[in-house]
This record gives sequence, C-alpha cells and structure tokens, in this order.
Amino acid sequence: MIIQKSDNPRIGSFDPENYSFGDHFIDHMIICEYENGQWGEPKLMPYGPLPFSPANMAFNYGQACFEGMKAYKDKNGDVFLFRPEKNFERINKSATRLAMPEVPEEAFMQGLKVLIDADRDWVPHGEGKSLYIRPLIFATEEALKARISTKYMFAIVASPAKSYYSAPVSVKISDYYSRASSGGVGFAKAAGNYAASFYPTKLANEEGYEQIIWTDDATHENFEESGTMNVFVRINDTIYTPATSDKILDGVTRDSFIQLAKKRGIEVVVGDVKVKDVIAAHERGELKEVWGVGTAVVTSVFEAIGYKDKKYDLPKLSAEESYALTLQRDLVAIQTNNAEDPFGWRVLVEKNILETV
Ligand SMILES: *Cc1c(COP(=O)(O)O)cnc(C)c1O
Repeated sequence: MIIQKSDNPRIGSFDPENYSFGDHFIDHMIICEYENGQWGEPKLMPYGPLPFSPANMAFNYGQACFEGMKAYKDKNGDVFLFRPEKNFERINKSATRLAMPEVPEEAFMQGLKVLIDADRDWVPHGEGKSLYIRPLIFATEEALKARISTKYMFAIVASPAKSYYSAPVSVKISDYYSRASSGGVGFAKAAGNYAASFYPTKLANEEGYEQIIWTDDATHENFEESGTMNVFVRINDTIYTPATSDKILDGVTRDSFIQLAKKRGIEVVVGDVKVKDVIAAHERGELKEVWGVGTAVVTSVFEAIGYKDKKYDLPKLSAEESYALTLQRDLVAIQTNNAEDPFGWRVLVEKNILETV
C-alpha cells in the first residue's frame, strides 16, 4: 500500500462535542484505481477533492455503488469494526450487478484498517458516537459511450457520526411508487436507487410524512423496506420482516436484529408482510411496533403509519417494553464492546498497522 500522510491534519480544529453528522471528513482517505483489467495499489492519502470531467461515465451512466459501516471506540480507546466481511461481500455483489469489477479483499479490509488506524483520533467515544465509513466504487472513464466503463475508482472516506436517538417518525405506505423492481437492482447498494427514491420521499414529506414504506412494485400489497432501511413489524409479541430478495437489500442490521431477537427468545417470522394484515392487526389493537433498521441510525421508531387517506397511530411503548429499542441496546452494547460478543461480530482495528504495510 502507498502511504501519503497529511502535512496539514484538521483533527485539532474538530470539536468532538459539537458537530453534525456527514459534514466533517477525517484527515485521510483510501483510493485504488482500476484500469487495463486490474486494480492498482491502494493508497492512503490526505482527504480531498479529485478532478473528474463531466464526461466521466459514472455521472452519465450511473455505475456507482457504496457501503455504509461504522467503527466504534470503547472506554479503553480500542477501536472496533462491526461485521466488516458482510460489507465486503455486499459491495462486490453490488459491483457485479452494475457490471463493475469486484474489489480485492485486501484493498477493502486492509484499506479500512489502515485508514482507521491512521485517523483513530477521529473515532469519537461516547454514547451513540461512532465513525461512519463510506467505501464506494464508481466508473472513472471519460467517454460518452453507453457501455461498461473500463476504468474505476474504489475509495473509502469517513465522517464522525452522532447519537442514535432520532425522534419517532410518521411513514407513508406507498401505493404507487416503487423503490425496486423484480430483476432490478434493489438488492444492490446502487447510488441510483437513492436518486430514484428522493422524489417520492419529497412528495411524502409534503403530505407530512418523514419516510415511505416501500411496497412491491407488482401489487403494492407487501411491505418491502422503509426509506433506506429494512423494516420490522411487531404484532402482539411476534416480529415479522420481509425475506430478502432481488428487491430487498440484505441489511447487516436486519440480520443482526433477527439473531439478537432469537437469542432473547422472541419469535421472528421472515416472510411476506402484507399491508392488509398490518392494518387489520392495528384495528384489533395488536399492532405494537413498526420500525426501520440500518447502520446509520440503527433504529428508526415509527409513531404513525399512513395508508391511502388514513393515518394509524402506533402505541407509545417505554424503552423497556419496546422490542425495537431493546434490540437496539443489545446491538449497540456489542458494537461498542460493552457486552460479550457471542456471535464474533466485533473486529479489533490493530494499532500501528501503518508500519506493517
Ligand atoms: C444500506 C441499506 C439498508 C441497511 O443496511 P445495513 O447493512 O443494515 O446498514 C437497508 N436498505 C437499503 C435500501 C439500504 O441501502
């Protein structure tokens, strides 16, 4: 790996007590370029802009995908990643679907560890704090030809993230727009999936809803995801979540919640979650919780769901009664090294890796 440390680190002017998520970037980034059919040597370098032409193929034909993951600092100052091999596998599934080359494991895993070790002072410690990490792959060939690019960049950038607490939100069940379609790219973390979701989300915002519950494109009768999160529904004391498919992203948080729920003896049913069954459960007073899960906020609790012209309020449960918040606490305790890790999910970022690469 090529190592080029920053001469002008900004960490000194970063206030770990006062920042907003996504606006500050750590001092370094990883980049690795692909051309002539192969990946070059990964490079650690100062974070900053890169020059690309407007004729860059990623801008025109949309070959771009990414990952979202976090590093956590425990009370002793040790830094851990959470199930990074899942993100590695997923970025390559996304890349393959978008006809982009797979990233070698070494570039991804060693890139992560070298970057986080170099900027370990940027990993915040404390309740709800973490470093959000964004690996991405995008086309870089300069050509206006609608075909597979021959050049790519793999990069990793990172930004300090804040508290998990987010106020309960209202969500609208979509009966027209779709996030993904059969045979499409919904399972991939394709940048274009986000672009396609913004306009329907804006319309939902105008109706007073913060997010959308996406339903299947063929019938709009089945829950798929919520915003950019996987979705869970609790009816009485059983939790339900749609099975992953080519339309549903295989979330690391979703999988972790399922395993943690089972460990607690909570019944989990993975399969179709029908809109009509959820509404009927609400009418019987049996719909206890609906929530979204993803790396960024872990859990987004819903206070109301809208369907057609009606709004259905959900019960207000205490942090102890709520399965969403209980499972979130279990997960965060493992991520932050405040609990045993029976699943082997934590991966320590060793110190002074820079000297060994
Ligand atoms: C990233 C993402 C998720 C959540 O995945 P995690 O691995 O849990 O962060 C869910 N749905 C969509 C559409 C996503 O892009």
